[in-house]
Amino acid sequence: MKTVSAILVITVLVSLGATMGAVGQDKFINAKCFNCGKLYRVPVQDKETVVVTCPHCGTKAKIKMPEPTVIAWEKASKYIGKEKVIEGKIVKTYKDPRSNNVYLNLNPDYKTYGSVVIKSEDLGKFGGTPEATLEGKKVRVKGKIVEHKGKPRIWLTDSGQVEVLE
Ligand SMILES: [Zn+2]
Repeated sequence: MKTVSAILVITVLVSLGATMGAVGQDKFINAKCFNCGKLYRVPVQDKETVVVTCPHCGTKAKIKMPEPTVIAWEKASKYIGKEKVIEGKIVKTYKDPRSNNVYLNLNPDYKTYGSVVIKSEDLGKFGGTPEATLEGKKVRVKGKIVEHKGKPRIWLTDSGQVEVLE
């Protein structure tokens, strides 16, 4: 067995798509060992990089984890400017009596985590009263995460951006 002291970055053949959609724990990426050239599967973890050991020759390597497609709302601030799918529960809704905009909060601490917001003129696309129909629902929300007053926000302009899971 050849030992390599330096930890090198190896080629990661990321196969995204159908196998990478879910939030579940059973996601893998295929890593290619830079020493023996064989492929092996690495479970995806919620970290930027992980150190792995080739099961064929024992060589250690540091590999980059793929950026997740589906994230929890509490991680949204890490992805400002990016299109993401948020999975979580709308724990609280609020309709601003002045603007009539509807705020969907996926964390009760909206002052820290921000909100998903539907503007008053778009309420009709969401059945008129999304503050009632979406409260308490587990959802997937798709959209671009933007910064609003220092906190993450997604503007919902189309009902296709929300999928109610339960
Ligand atoms: Zn190897």
